[in-house]
Amino acid sequence: MRTALRKRTLVTGGAGFLGRHLCKRLLADGHEVLCVDNFFTGSKSNIIELLDQPFFELLRHDVTFPLYLEVDEIYNLACPASPVHYQFDPVQTTKTSVHGAINMLGLAKRVKAKIFQASTSEVYGDPRIHPQPETYWGHVNPVGTRSCYDEGKRCAETLFFDYYRQHGLRIKVGRIFNTYGPFMHPDDGRVVSNFIVQALRNEPLTIYGEGQQTRSFCYVDDLIEVMVRFMDSDDSFTGPMNMGNPGEFTIKELAEKILALTGSRSVLEYHPLPNDDPVQRRPDISLAQGKLGWSPRIDLDQGLKQTIAYFQALLETARQ
Ligand code: NAD
Ligand code: UDP
Repeated sequence: MRTALRKRTLVTGGAGFLGRHLCKRLLADGHEVLCVDNFFTGSKSNIIELLDQPFFELLRHDVTFPLYLEVDEIYNLACPASPVHYQFDPVQTTKTSVHGAINMLGLAKRVKAKIFQASTSEVYGDPRIHPQPETYWGHVNPVGTRSCYDEGKRCAETLFFDYYRQHGLRIKVGRIFNTYGPFMHPDDGRVVSNFIVQALRNEPLTIYGEGQQTRSFCYVDDLIEVMVRFMDSDDSFTGPMNMGNPGEFTIKELAEKILALTGSRSVLEYHPLPNDDPVQRRPDISLAQGKLGWSPRIDLDQGLKQTIAYFQALLETARQ
């Protein structure tokens, strides 16, 4: 028997980096969690500590295929997020975003569930407006190597708003900016995990380009907090809403910070800049601040220290 407040929540991509933290948070809040994942970039080890919890359930499933079950809320996170992984099989990336959105929206429509979409700052492409407010339509290459992800996520947003207008679905579209923290995969390929793992191994830190491009890094706990608050907010507030930490750093600054915090002997090594790599990125978070009273609380130094401690322990265990 469920209590009135206990919701049946579906988390797609629940065995990935963000999904793992979200599943844990929803269980701690007293909800039932059904984690769906095809383990493309996620892993059982991310959720192993949740497997024996009575209100946690795991289902191996690919969201590009329909899914029939009964839930109250859906968090649609399934999609590789690291450029290395989403470019590995770009056709599957677009299918995951687009067919995955259609399948999850269809499910939400059938069971009248509220549905959150993990969209991305990549919908702004290589932005010409800085910082990026939600009203900016973006500057995206439709035929480049990042397009499978950027355009897939843009099409998913379109589908969400069409289901909202056409079928009256309760939707929440959150545009997530670079988020990092414990439980990123050591071979994830994104910059924070790459630099930390390289620094801890005293290997060269691989800077792409001159390292003058900027990103704004959000610690995972702050991100999960705003995601849950957004889902719980009034149905009339659909987004799209930026979710991130506006602190902005060049990639070279990030590398130097990680060297200082780890005390590493690593050197900086410069590599070619990947195609269409955005030059600068920073969220305007005034919408989230105004509507949800949310602001990130963990600055980059604090967040990096916690992430470094996680990877230190992980690499130590791997050596034993
Ligand atoms: P991740 O790669 O760690 O997790 C993605 C999860 O989705 C993995 O567990 C993977 O196995 C699963 N998955 C992929 N394709 C699937 C499919 N077809 N069916 C079922 N499961 C599938 O990435 P993450 O950082 O946890 O990102 C989660 C979501 O948030 C993604 O949708 C991503 O686009 C979005 N996002 C993340 C960030 C970030 O900085 N972390 C930024 C913007 C957007
Ligand atoms: N980057 C880098 N070295 C790495 C990985 C990434 O210099 O080992 C750069 C990348 O070119 C980009 C930024 O760091 O400019 C962020 O890359 P990431 O893959 O983390 O995410 P993105 O924001 O590009 O999706």
